[in-house]
Amino acid sequence: SGILYVVATPIGNLADLSARARRVLGEVSAIAAEDTRTTHQLLNHLGIATELIAYHEHNESAMMPRLLARLAAGEDLALVAEAGTPLISDPGYQLVAAARAQAIRVVPIPGANAAICALSAAGLPSDRFLFLGFPPRTQSRRRTWIEGVANEPGTLILYESPHRILETLADLRMVLGDGRRIVLARELTKRFETFLSGSASELIAQLEVDADQRRGELVILVEGCPSADLQGLSPEVQRTLRILADAFP
Ligand code: SAM
Repeated sequence: SGILYVVATPIGNLADLSARARRVLGEVSAIAAEDTRTTHQLLNHLGIATELIAYHEHNESAMMPRLLARLAAGEDLALVAEAGTPLISDPGYQLVAAARAQAIRVVPIPGANAAICALSAAGLPSDRFLFLGFPPRTQSRRRTWIEGVANEPGTLILYESPHRILETLADLRMVLGDGRRIVLARELTKRFETFLSGSASELIAQLEVDADQRRGELVILVEGCPSADLQGLSPEVQRTLRILADAFP
């Protein structure tokens, strides 16, 4: 059977595409792309005319058997996301799992990923981290979700849309208190790349006065749980202690 290449593409700066990624995209029979328009632009930029197949969360189940059949017939295929690494807050897991289950070779072609890119330059501890992807969109679910990681000692990494950034910062402050350092990594590898750092309150104040800081793409990094002291206590007790610690630092 053929090979399924999982190819990372740039998250802004097209020069970040690796030479190996370029070669693979030019050599495979077809590219399964989450967003054919974006990938078409990338291929145009590279002067590559490989066949594109739309493969996104809405047709994932329907397209998967067809992709697997082509692989089984000996064709090499590439999987790409709209930007960055496929499967990381992007489709592809089902296809990769199914390919592996059928003993089809799956080869990663590494490259850009917004979470790791942000972590590498944020100045927060990087020895241990927890990638969380996108928080839930409703406030009550988001708060419960943050509570679930309140004790994590490693740096937390979240993706968020500019529309919800203020609400999510407010919920982080509400659940974790205002004592943790937060870094907002915005527009990574692009012209307006910015790193803002501060407490939740400081960042909220900054974003409220400067709407430009709310535009574009964002990664939120949150300092991990400062000590292991709270571990083992019930969530209610932990929350009360955190509120007290904020009131009487
Ligand atoms: N698969 C991608 C990756 O490997 O990073 C992530 C895809 S996810 C659908 C899109 C989210 O990633 C954005 O909402 C944002 O949180 C983050 N992101 C992607 N590109 C970014 C960039 N250039 N700067 C900051 N965040 C970015």
